[in-house]
Amino acid sequence: MNTAKIDLHLHLDGSLNIMWAYKKAIQRNVVEKNTTFEEFYDLLFSNNGFHSAQSIRKFELVCDLLQDYEDLEDASYDLARRMNDLGIIYTEIRFASQQHCKKGLSQYEALKAVIDGANRAMNEYPIKVGIINCLMHKGDSASFNYKENMETIEVTEQLIGKGAVGLDLAGFENNCDYNEYAPLFKIAKKKGIPFTMHAGEMGIGEHILDALKMEPDRIGHGINCIQDERYIRALYERQIPLEVCVSSNVKVDRNYASHPIREMIERGLKVTINTDNMIFSRTDTVNEHNQLRMIGLDDETLMKCTMNALDAAFCDEKTKQELKDKILLP
Ligand SMILES: [Zn+2]
Repeated sequence: MNTAKIDLHLHLDGSLNIMWAYKKAIQRNVVEKNTTFEEFYDLLFSNNGFHSAQSIRKFELVCDLLQDYEDLEDASYDLARRMNDLGIIYTEIRFASQQHCKKGLSQYEALKAVIDGANRAMNEYPIKVGIINCLMHKGDSASFNYKENMETIEVTEQLIGKGAVGLDLAGFENNCDYNEYAPLFKIAKKKGIPFTMHAGEMGIGEHILDALKMEPDRIGHGINCIQDERYIRALYERQIPLEVCVSSNVKVDRNYASHPIREMIERGLKVTINTDNMIFSRTDTVNEHNQLRMIGLDDETLMKCTMNALDAAFCDEKTKQELKDKILLP
């Protein structure tokens, strides 16, 4: 059985090397100097509800560690290297350039740093990496950071085909009206930038229909499609690839057995298997496949998900063919 895998949904800030993050956090006074490694480890894993102050704090904490070129470059390189070690042949690492400008970096420089790190890893290892830049929803409406989101689109356009592969919409899903983001994604569409959107993860399944109106190339999570037959049908008819991240969802409010992934596959949805956040969910791509095996998914089904990911990847056709050859290697 070939074990080559693809991961399309992997956040840089949530997937740092834990020991690197701990040392940096102490050095940079991001946590109290006397914080032990165990306390740090628990702080990053803790979950008191997705929108809790503690949950927001951990996202801020890891972002605070990635505010200069060297750290972003290093973190990106290291994540790509670790993915290669896991046997991942292609991954798309996502981050939000607008979250890394606290110490004076421009969004362009932040994106360039992450691309440079991925390129360094690709020069040393066989893994292929693409970078997704995330628009953020924060505040009560899209007007809160419209300017920053516009800039995210612009800098991504400048680096598309040079390491950047697409856009995403990320942040706290519950507090927004998705339709407010339509003008931004209309611009992205016009510029020909591929994009995915977190939708139907923590928020209502209706967000999936809102997102589909913007014609994304993929949907992040989408698991709340099981709330209503209309959502399942819409996803099925379009055969839109879904970036499912089981451990990430399990950590919030489910267990593996009750996760909707099996039903989604049985209903013919185009499911892919992904990590989301290594340190927040204490998982990786290989573990995701193993956990799914534990709830009864067979090798054939897992392979189908890998082929779905190959089909949905934001890379060029030549790269896709090379990846396909690796996956189908006897
Ligand atoms: Zn995510």
